[in-house]
Amino acid sequence: FEVYYQPLFRANAKEHECMGAEALIRWKSAELGEMQPDEFIPLAEYLGLIVPIGEHVLREACKRCKYWNDFGHPEYRINVNLSVVELMQQNIKTTVGEILKETGLDPGHLTLELTESVAAGDTDKLKSALDGLKELGISLSLDDFGTGYSSLARLRGLPVDELKIDKVFIDKVGKDDFSDTFVDTVSSLAKSIRLQVVAEGVEEDIQKDALSQMKVDLLQGFFYEKPLPVKEFEAKYVDLPPDE
Ligand code: C2E
Ligand code: CA
Ligand code: CA
Repeated sequence: FEVYYQPLFRANAKEHECMGAEALIRWKSAELGEMQPDEFIPLAEYLGLIVPIGEHVLREACKRCKYWNDFGHPEYRINVNLSVVELMQQNIKTTVGEILKETGLDPGHLTLELTESVAAGDTDKLKSALDGLKELGISLSLDDFGTGYSSLARLRGLPVDELKIDKVFIDKVGKDDFSDTFVDTVSSLAKSIRLQVVAEGVEEDIQKDALSQMKVDLLQGFFYEKPLPVKEFEAKYVDLPPDE
């Protein structure tokens, strides 16, 4: 397993300014070749392997972010995906807390991304898991927003700090009225309940231009950068001391 990093950029900065990255797992299997996370994550969840795999990604990502913070990028943050199976582990708060302690990362620099489907699950259990994580001082993000069943009203009751609008809406931004209205409205509403808004999957100029007219805080996508192996990410986005 290897962790790749895709940079996130501040939307309103003149020169698009990197403010951190999302950690994305890659698996090169000797037998099966390169497997996409969409293919093996569901299998890993089913087999119960997502827990150790997830811990590995989280530990690596926190370690890297702490390193960037110590070497010239005190503001960089790291987003790590957390599957529902991991979230519902009884000791999730302890696990995340221990990894933060062990790596020394400022909890304020970690965001855990949960898919929107969690917001449709058992409310009490979900809320107490999320509240527990929030007590660590980290941020929570709702990934793939717009594809599931949650409403902004429901979101309001959850301790979420960020919303990532799904790529299916971003794909048609600047090209289709529905997508424009959806993204514009969701961003405005999200801002009004103090959520940070991320547009993911930005691939073209036309999308970027349309988004610049909306209340989107952060941008992510192949238009700016694809997920990179750690060395490549650091060569481009981190000024490391010589020798490293
Ligand atoms: P996601 O969290 O929605 O991550 C975004 C996916 O979109 C990533 O795919 C990323 O490489 C891709 N992407 C980013 N920008 C663009 C773009 O402009 N165009 C297109 N076409 N794609 C773009 P990836 O890395 O294959 O990951 C797929 C999914 O697998 C992720 O979706 C996430 O749900 C899951 N995943 C990845 N790493 C982890 C992990 O460490 N733990 C868990 N639990 N899930 C993970
Ligand atoms: Ca994600
Ligand atoms: Ca997503």
